[in-house]
Amino acid sequence: MSTTDTHRANSVVTPIDREALQARYRAERDKRLRPDGNEQYVEPAGRFAHFLEDPYAEPLDREPLFDEVTVAIIGGGFAGLVTGARLTQAGVSDVRLIEGGGDVGGAWYWNRYPGAMCDTAAMIYLPLLEETGHVPSQKYTPANEIFGHAQRIAKHFGLYDNALLSTEVTGLEWDEGSSRWIIRTDRGDEMRAMFVSMGTGPLHRPKLPGIPGIETFAGHSFHTSRWDYEYTGGDPTGSPLERLADKRVGIIGTGATAVQCIPHLARGAAELYVFQRTPSSIDVRNNHPIEPEWFATLEPGWQRKWLMNFATLQTGGFADEDLVKDGWTDISQRIRDRVIADVGADFTPEAMMRAYEDSDDEKMTEIRARVDSIVEDPATADALKPWYRQLCKRPCFHDEYLQAYNEPGAHLVDTDGKGVERIDETGVFVGGVHYELDCLIFASGFEVGTDYSRRSGFETVGRGGHRLSEVWADGMQSMHGLHVHGFPNLYVVGPSQGGNLISNITHNLTEAGSTIAAITSRALEMGADEVEVTIEAQQAWVALVESSTRMFLGNSDCTPGYYNNEGKEMGRRERLNATGYPEGPVAYFQYIDAWRNSGDFEGLEFRSRAAAAP
Ligand code: NDP
Repeated sequence: MSTTDTHRANSVVTPIDREALQARYRAERDKRLRPDGNEQYVEPAGRFAHFLEDPYAEPLDREPLFDEVTVAIIGGGFAGLVTGARLTQAGVSDVRLIEGGGDVGGAWYWNRYPGAMCDTAAMIYLPLLEETGHVPSQKYTPANEIFGHAQRIAKHFGLYDNALLSTEVTGLEWDEGSSRWIIRTDRGDEMRAMFVSMGTGPLHRPKLPGIPGIETFAGHSFHTSRWDYEYTGGDPTGSPLERLADKRVGIIGTGATAVQCIPHLARGAAELYVFQRTPSSIDVRNNHPIEPEWFATLEPGWQRKWLMNFATLQTGGFADEDLVKDGWTDISQRIRDRVIADVGADFTPEAMMRAYEDSDDEKMTEIRARVDSIVEDPATADALKPWYRQLCKRPCFHDEYLQAYNEPGAHLVDTDGKGVERIDETGVFVGGVHYELDCLIFASGFEVGTDYSRRSGFETVGRGGHRLSEVWADGMQSMHGLHVHGFPNLYVVGPSQGGNLISNITHNLTEAGSTIAAITSRALEMGADEVEVTIEAQQAWVALVESSTRMFLGNSDCTPGYYNNEGKEMGRRERLNATGYPEGPVAYFQYIDAWRNSGDFEGLEFRSRAAAAP
């Protein structure tokens, strides 16, 4: 049977040879599969140990603290800030943020590379816009504005007053005798907290490719999350990188970060060599300013409405209008509409999968055609084409990235899926060719699949001396992605085992903040000393999330990346760590809203020491 499909009139009209396409996708994936998976990456150490340091903070000297607070929040990114804000709104004022960086902001404190911006729309990505009165400048806001918004939240809710900045937590331990957490830091603090909320972030610790010889490179080098403007010139607002005018610069990586900074490097450097292993898919961006007059017409409660509208449409649901109208909602609506058009009443899984694949084939064909329409050199254009399904890797949206390869000094060095061969004192080898460099930039991403304690940078020791890294060694165990049995009065904030809305992470965080505020207020009102999820409730929740048949973003047919455990099988551990509520984010947000407002807090046990005393 012929597998040649002809596209519908309203889409790309070139015929797609489905079999040939699948064969190409498989061949491109197979080229990239490697036995070491996640182990191919190394932690910055030795010559690169300073990649973990904070180049932006002023030196800070202070005496260690030995006091007690009601709630300690570890991590001053949006997870910590929205939790702090919701607690403050609920009247819990004794809140302390503890943050390793010199200011709040998390990812937006660290990532100051030129061109950094969030490609989820500001109207939904920036939390608490109504509460703080901020009007985003553009549909997609630059990193420095997002960092400014993080500072605005901290100021607005008084979270700076009691904050400890430039302070890394080194250990967290439950003290059974006093029902308090003991928090130790690299500044010698040993404080106590009744509750601890952890918002240490999913993309927190920079990682480096374990390329042979990497530590021998004698030129200048840095990771994108510690951009060295001293060396490059320019600044986070995008001023030209004028100090690179006589420099040969190499960059390893072509993920979402590299896509944003490469246009600036291509304009600034004498010569830019982009070492590519897998091209990203680059769809249109279409950024535009937000008119304050239009913004002023929004009715109170608008942000929640926009959040739910985006979450609904992005996860294949129906709504009367698309308020955000971006690449994310476009992807899912195309798939959904195609399913309806193709499948009609025939809602079999095979028919649905076929419709999904048709829609994806169309989209990716468009994306590859876009490369040809922009990149002048045909060989470069060919190498920039992504051969995989769009959601196998983080989809990118940009209107200057592909254009950057038309700059005279910009060279794409495609490694045909193999990656950089080796590095020596003066440069990089690919395919036996040596590229001499003054500066090598690592756009190689962040630790995702490693142990929780390695990613957070400290161990959490709960009741009976049990360590969180051991309890989670075979995968995350929680209720709502927030509570862990054996770790009373601890909240772990993140998308997994909860809403798991990956396209708008902050939505998950704001919901968690509201839940934490409700539980904490209730415990304080009741005079409870301990709040803990029962083992039965946790087991039931884990069984529920394990029953999920929702598609993972990346599956084993995908080209490897952190979405699919670098191409290694997604075992139970990986599934537990990456899965969410079976009925999807919108259902989860509705469920958790009802759960916290019911006042029953089903699954949690509130205990008071006085009541327990003989
Ligand atoms: P990624 O992990 O996405 O990308 C790392 C890059 O390094 C990949 O292109 C990878 O290639 C490449 N690489 C790794 N090892 C080698 C090697 N040996 N030789 C050559 N290339 C190599 O990191 P990013 O920092 O780009 O992005 C991380 C995440 O941060 C994103 O996925 C996104 O979630 C978030 N982000 C969000 C933004 C936003 O707008 N909201 C903007 C920027 C980042 P390969 O693909 O083959 O593995």
